[in-house]
Amino acid sequence: MSSVLIRGGLVVDGTGRAALPADVLVAGDRITDVVERSGRAALPRGLASAEIDATGCLVTPGFIDAHAHSDAYLLIEPDAPSKLSQGITTEINGQCGGSVAPRYGAARLSSDWASMTYPGGGGRPGPTWRSMAEYRALLDQVRPAINTVQFVGHNTLRSSVIGYDPVRATSETLRAMEDLLARELDDGGWGLTTGLIYQPGKYSDAAEVTALARVAAARGGFYATHMRSEGDAILEAIDEVLDLVRATGIRAEISHLKTSGRRNWGKIDDVLAKIERAVGAGELLGSDRYPYCAAGTDLDVVFPDWAGEGGVAAEIERLKDPETRARIAAEIDAQDRDWSAVMVGGTWSSRTSHCSGQRISELLSVWRASAPAAGWQASGPATDLRAQRPATPKPIATPGTVICDILAADACRTGAFFFGMSEENLQKILARPWIVPGSDASLRAPWGPLGKDHPHPRAYGTMPRFFRLLTGRVEGHARICSREEAIRRMTSVPAARFGIRDRGVVKPGAYADLAVWHEENFRENVTYMSPHAFASGVEAVLVNGAVAYRSGAFTHNRAGNFLER
Ligand SMILES: [Zn+2]
Repeated sequence: MSSVLIRGGLVVDGTGRAALPADVLVAGDRITDVVERSGRAALPRGLASAEIDATGCLVTPGFIDAHAHSDAYLLIEPDAPSKLSQGITTEINGQCGGSVAPRYGAARLSSDWASMTYPGGGGRPGPTWRSMAEYRALLDQVRPAINTVQFVGHNTLRSSVIGYDPVRATSETLRAMEDLLARELDDGGWGLTTGLIYQPGKYSDAAEVTALARVAAARGGFYATHMRSEGDAILEAIDEVLDLVRATGIRAEISHLKTSGRRNWGKIDDVLAKIERAVGAGELLGSDRYPYCAAGTDLDVVFPDWAGEGGVAAEIERLKDPETRARIAAEIDAQDRDWSAVMVGGTWSSRTSHCSGQRISELLSVWRASAPAAGWQASGPATDLRAQRPATPKPIATPGTVICDILAADACRTGAFFFGMSEENLQKILARPWIVPGSDASLRAPWGPLGKDHPHPRAYGTMPRFFRLLTGRVEGHARICSREEAIRRMTSVPAARFGIRDRGVVKPGAYADLAVWHEENFRENVTYMSPHAFASGVEAVLVNGAVAYRSGAFTHNRAGNFLER
């Protein structure tokens, strides 16, 4: 059995208890001893097969990313580089209604996942599993470096049974969804998530979601929801969650709490009061949040509803028809939206790559300043675009036409950042003790297939930024709590909330999921413009006793598990 002695550090055990100078002994996948240095005799050198000098470092539980989207990418980069490097040892995946499984009928993976190649695919793009059981078998083969808690996404489930049509469930299709959900939960799913602004989940009514939540509740599972509204109708959306909880008794969490859109910022106190009451009454577990003020999603969410129906394939067809495209553009232009608050994220074509990191308002001024023949494209070969531009000269560029051009070139896979949140509200949200960090990101690596897109900086920066915000290390933000309390929220709070057993604490008998890091140097190194860089300050990360990250290197010593409820 392998053993590791972590010597000389300051243990912050994740419970909120004050830091303690102590050495930590790991044997196999468990912590076997935590020995206070001023207490009983120090552990002898040579006791363990490996030693980590933690002098000047904190030794804490590995962090739990309570809201993640790595499901499929764990199969591609099992070292989970962007996550492991910030001290994350467990992720809660399958969020916002989108999960790897079940994938039947018309169900497609989200477009970024769908384009990748997976083990067993013979080099051809696309998923190589359908069910939770098949996904688990693949995951066991690649053995990820971190643990995963896998939820079943309502959108994935619904598209497996009903497809993407804007229809209500019938009693037959609801029954089929219930049966499929039950099987996937029995095969390892921890519960149900929803993404009720996305297709096809947005076509469901409260009765459908409640019926499915009841299936999860009956199995002791959980519910996490990207609510039907995070802006104009957020208070009503919280009521929908509470009604569901009261009807089913399920343990529920609201995902990535925010008040979206400037006109809704003033609702924050009502939102927090409503949730606080529900948490106090034991009706809600709490919420999670990423420590940034821009949402990261797909650019096509600005499409009018009718233009988004049928999913990406249908959107692409609509953009090919000049009249329909003009109508989409006109309806986008009619939206009451601040286009300087919308930044293009990941792009997928050489014709759009220069748009990444640019705001729509900036692209528009470039387009308008450039000669009409050069089109909206500021740089790069103009001939590329001519082929797909209508023969007639283009009318004056508008946000709608620019967005349609980008999406057409990218086959509707373009990412976007929406700067629709308030810093002041972020501070108020993070100040609540029931808020835990959730990156809302899939894992990335600066290299390989996952290094090609343009992620939200939260992919690499969530844990250091959350810690720095809570402990008053970010300029312009007041200190919220002690380091012990911040670490508690990054570890034992999410572990207890979701019943992740024997993790999130440093104590004998617990799994050896540990992070060794420099409190003062722990820092994110990413921006919206430059989002692929590892966090600094993390010296070592152990997962189930295996040293998976050490001095900036991935050891490929991977011992992460698909966790059982
Ligand atoms: Zn979401």
